[in-house]
Amino acid sequence: MALTGLDIFKLLPKTNCKKCGMPTCLAFAMQLAQKRAKLDACPFVSDEAKQTLDAAAAPPMRLIKFGQGEHQVQVGQETVLFRHEEKFHNPAAVAAVVSDSLTGDALLARIKAVNGLQFERVGLHLGVNAVALKNDSGDPKLFRDAASALKQHSKLAVILYSDSADAIQGALEELTGACPLIASATQSTIEAMAGLAKTHKCPLAVKADSLEALAELTEKAAALGAEDLVLSLDGLSVKERLYTWTKARALALKKGCRALGYPTLSLVDQGDDTRQLADAASLLCKYGNIVAVDSVEPAVYLALLTVVTNIYTDPQKPIQVEAKLYEIGEPDETSPVLFTTNFSLTYYTVESDVEASRIPAYILVVDTEGTSVLTAYSGDKLNEECVKAAIDKFEVESKVKHRKMIIPGYVAVMSGKLEEATGWEVLVGPRESSMLPKYLQEVWSK
Ligand code: SF4
Repeated sequence: MALTGLDIFKLLPKTNCKKCGMPTCLAFAMQLAQKRAKLDACPFVSDEAKQTLDAAAAPPMRLIKFGQGEHQVQVGQETVLFRHEEKFHNPAAVAAVVSDSLTGDALLARIKAVNGLQFERVGLHLGVNAVALKNDSGDPKLFRDAASALKQHSKLAVILYSDSADAIQGALEELTGACPLIASATQSTIEAMAGLAKTHKCPLAVKADSLEALAELTEKAAALGAEDLVLSLDGLSVKERLYTWTKARALALKKGCRALGYPTLSLVDQGDDTRQLADAASLLCKYGNIVAVDSVEPAVYLALLTVVTNIYTDPQKPIQVEAKLYEIGEPDETSPVLFTTNFSLTYYTVESDVEASRIPAYILVVDTEGTSVLTAYSGDKLNEECVKAAIDKFEVESKVKHRKMIIPGYVAVMSGKLEEATGWEVLVGPRESSMLPKYLQEVWSK
């Protein structure tokens, strides 16, 4: 847990020698507590005090990385229980299961299907983050062969799911340099699995059926030299896992329980696609950091990745697009001009509806600090002055010879002042963007 300025002061030499640049040790302690100073500015801190202060400064939840290069997955290092308290830092990872009971063409087809789980959504690229290779066959050789196929045909980060240290060892030898996540060590395999994690420099998941047993396992693994750990639960229902993960996160963040300060791994492989989607989405909400799903149905992953995007967006920073004049198709001087705000969901919705009309057009995006049309208007971030400023800044008058602006139906009330400020004729468009194709074809084209 974070130490207060007074806690830190008790660990300092209290000589007020000023060598740290502060007038007193207490002043230095206060600066340290606010993270405005570095401990090494004081040359007289004892090794013991250093250890205590370093441990207190460590984040309550460890950052875990697996995979390589641009496909590396990073989870953990969260500092708050609820997003609105600050923000969540590292988005949860969604993995797709590949079973080693598949061989030959069936295995390659499954790997290819997992690689293809990539989507464009409102200007964002979303894709499955990892492959969870399951040792369903129980055969170390088949597991190793499947790991070799993964190495050849996928760049995604890998989770190696097996209770057998022999099977994990074979797969690790095939995946040299790929830094997979090993899942999972139990009470009976902790020595062997921790040894493999240490030798191959990979993170390790530990698995038990209660928080007490998990805490015992993480302490054991850390003592064996495997410190990059992930928590996994065995044999519990989704409801019990939700309850347990919530308790684990609260204990780590609020009570400073280091033994539970690790990201979580959940396997969802029961029921049909709809059941798995519901279970996985619930776990991503509280507090699944890595969720592996036994499906390759694109609709399942699009929904799950959308859930992750929504949960891990910084609530203080709406997703924005650049404010500028966008060209849809190949507009000319007779093409319609519409305006909207720079909230990305708003912009991409308008953009796709204008595209659907098949009428080339300009969309003037006004900077409203990433807020939607009605929110911006009610907060006075969208008014006739900023629209006029955007028309001038992006030289809209040099692009079209007409002076007609289609505005969102929800801000029809702006019409009069906007006409006065710009000299443009205002056409009130539909309230719902989905009506734009019809509006452009039936109203504008006349
Ligand atoms: S250098 Fe260390 S001992 Fe000297 S005033 Fe600063 S904190 Fe105190």
